[in-house]
Amino acid sequence: MEIIERPFVIAGPCSVESREQLESVCTSLCSLPQVQMIRGGVWKPRTRPGGFEGLGEPALQWMQEISNGPLRMADGNHVRFCCEVARPEHIELCLRHGINTVWIGARTTGNPFMVDELAEALRGNNMQVMVKNPMSPDVRLWIGAFERLQQANINCIAAIHRGFNMYNNYDYRNTPLWELAIELRRTFPTLPILCDPSHISGKSSMAKDLMLRALQLAYDGFMVEVHPNPSQAWTDADQQLTPSQLSDILKSLPTNINDDSSHTTALEALRSRIDAIDYDMLQLLARRMEVSREIAAVKRNEGISVYQAKRWESVMNNRIKIATDMGLDPKFVKELLDKIHIESVRVQFE
Ligand code: PEP
Ligand code: MN
Repeated sequence: MEIIERPFVIAGPCSVESREQLESVCTSLCSLPQVQMIRGGVWKPRTRPGGFEGLGEPALQWMQEISNGPLRMADGNHVRFCCEVARPEHIELCLRHGINTVWIGARTTGNPFMVDELAEALRGNNMQVMVKNPMSPDVRLWIGAFERLQQANINCIAAIHRGFNMYNNYDYRNTPLWELAIELRRTFPTLPILCDPSHISGKSSMAKDLMLRALQLAYDGFMVEVHPNPSQAWTDADQQLTPSQLSDILKSLPTNINDDSSHTTALEALRSRIDAIDYDMLQLLARRMEVSREIAAVKRNEGISVYQAKRWESVMNNRIKIATDMGLDPKFVKELLDKIHIESVRVQFE
């Protein structure tokens, strides 16, 4: 997808609720120079039946009328809308109402059959397609959805990171697991990625911090939920911002974060120190594995089992204590040492 300006900001209500609500939010958002597209939920996936499931076609009709009306976005162009599609019929209806940017929602991304059906329906019609991460923390499903789109020759694509549904989402509605989004970008280095702070946090008060974090991680922009009167929203009331809250956040975001760091000499010097430290670390690891191999030989000769639970427990406790005194995070050190130990056991079987 073409990102004309960074951050690329898509804002709008979780759900389109009425013509008045949509017009009101569009009027406010069009006055914000950073907002480049307006979102509006037309078909709403609900966890349990009986809730508001979206207005469907009438909502698209209003979008089309607003697009064709006198309102203009800050760049002077007609209002651009996007919405979630979950079935081939939705794509058909969007096309009929002049909507050419859509997204595949988190519940759909996790279903390869549906993604294939949507990819077929999208084939050849020049739509821009964004794909939210799947509900479960499986980056391969997310990557797979893009591969399915590419197989159908759909290349105007972008990712939306909306967090993952975890058993223990303590601080978030959907835990971000930033490393999975980074992994996606390693696979598709040129794929634009937007952060959805609304569905990650579930709370409007956390949106700003998440947006800052996303900028530090060189995201291309945001998809954020905005409602004229969030507490009265029919869906996702706790996480929607008012237009003026969004405006304040956008004004406060730094504009000077640069993802090209090659020109900074201060950084160069520090990076060469990191390079040297990494070299030392790898050399130490290689030496450690050599000693593991010698230990394996001794164990074999003396009939001692490779895995020694007690010894490992005491090593771990001792190292965590040392590491903590050095100011390292004990959880991180435990994970690292566990990985090293697994490799050391493997090496002893070579
Ligand atoms: C939404 O954007 O309103 C939505 C339902 O999102 P998600 O697919 O991330 O749950
Ligand atoms: Mn929502």
